[in-house]
Amino acid sequence: MFQLEEFKKDILRKNSKIEIAENVPMSRYTSFKAGGSAGALIEVKDIQELKTVLVTVAEKNIPHMILGNGSNTLFKDSGYDGVVIKLSDNFAGVSVERCEDGFVVKAGTAILLSTLAKILLKEELTGFEFAGGIPGSLGGALFMNAGAYGGEMKDIVMSVKAISPDGSCEKVFSADEMDFGYRHSRLEENGYIAVEAALKLQKGDYNLIAAKMKELSEKRNSKQPVQYPSAGSTFKRPEGYFAGKLIEDAGLKGVSVGGAQVSTLHSGFIINRDNATATDILNLITLVQNRVYDETGVMLKPEVRIIG
Ligand SMILES: Cc1cc2nc3c(=O)[nH]c(=O)nc-3n(C[C@H](O)[C@H](O)[C@H](O)COP(=O)(O)OP(=O)(O)OC[C@H]3O[C@@H](n4cnc5c(N)ncnc54)[C@H](O)[C@@H]3O)c2cc1C
Repeated sequence: MFQLEEFKKDILRKNSKIEIAENVPMSRYTSFKAGGSAGALIEVKDIQELKTVLVTVAEKNIPHMILGNGSNTLFKDSGYDGVVIKLSDNFAGVSVERCEDGFVVKAGTAILLSTLAKILLKEELTGFEFAGGIPGSLGGALFMNAGAYGGEMKDIVMSVKAISPDGSCEKVFSADEMDFGYRHSRLEENGYIAVEAALKLQKGDYNLIAAKMKELSEKRNSKQPVQYPSAGSTFKRPEGYFAGKLIEDAGLKGVSVGGAQVSTLHSGFIINRDNATATDILNLITLVQNRVYDETGVMLKPEVRIIG
């Protein structure tokens, strides 16, 4: 157990305005609506607070992680003996600048993709339609290189401003330096916390952008079990296959462990059907992995980030 009281004293000595919540159920902060508690949760209000928290956890060697909208994260029932950091809405600003060959949108990483998509629609900027229905923050989308319907963050990111994991420095990564791959970015390796991204978009037509967003949203709502808590696709797409098809072919559609179920609408989704615990979800993940491996020789890898 990390020394919460000592950590609190230390942080508050440095900045008495930092608010620390203790023993926080992470089911409230994740789209799976399951899992145990975090030792502490701090919502930082500006970069200085973020740096103070990072410097302190680094000095004391306290486990810590940044959480966006929690739509790709599952905390184990045993909880997380560390500090969860969230960026407040102060990190959700958006500005638009016209450049020679398009428009540069600078956005704080706490903004939800759905909110940003609505702002960009108003600005009549095209290129972001694919992301409007992905239920995450911009920070989580950069970390994951989130994508849908043929688009991914990689296509539109120009640069990312981020803070080093020990809070000591601020750096701007170019798109190349972000090393985007399938559901992967450099942030996964270097632990930097993204605070702002510059996106490159083009002028479009309001009605065409709105129509595209509507089409993709209808597709999503008809093909995905959006009425149940989940983290979207549970597994990464194995090269040459579709996870959902492999799971369905292995006869696992609708299979349950406790309150967790392989969705009957989309086998690639494990849903929290009925008050599932994180253990139910994790046991179902293992069951699916083993059965698919036995049937096909393909080992599915979770896309969802498992913490604890
Ligand atoms: C119904 C549903 C549908 C979905 N559909 C899609 C889809 O079509 N395509 C897709 O790609 N994903 C999809 N997802 C998964 C999820 O929405 C994306 O992975 C999203 O990008 C996660 O963003 P988040 O803010 O919720 O991240 P979180 O779950 O909060 O975090 C994910 C990872 O990002 C890291 N992170 C978060 N913020 C930052 C930051 N500021 N700096 C550095 N690291 C950070 C976290 O530490 C964590 O490791 C879906 C999920 C659901 C529930």
